[in-house]
Amino acid sequence: MLHVSADETVESTWQDYANCLGVDPDLFFPERGASTREAKEVCRGCVVREDCLEYALANGEKFGIWGGMSERERRRIRRQRALARAAASAG
Ligand code: SF4
Repeated sequence: MLHVSADETVESTWQDYANCLGVDPDLFFPERGASTREAKEVCRGCVVREDCLEYALANGEKFGIWGGMSERERRRIRRQRALARAAASAG
């Protein structure tokens, strides 16, 4: 079961190719301190990993593994992008 709401599939179909379809969603929302390894293994073989990660970043998803990345890893990406944007606009 993909942890993306079904209504999203109306306009977007990347979810249809998700490697986690049919996989226990609990795996993607591990308890604090629990292993994220299994979820990341599923994501590693996923062809829509980029779309999934960008979706999570765009929607500010705070919980769970998306695109093979944990909350903390996504925060780092957001920070890096913000820094890059700031550097670019500073000219
Ligand atoms: S990247 Fe991971 S969480 Fe995202 S759709 Fe693929 S398998 Fe699911």
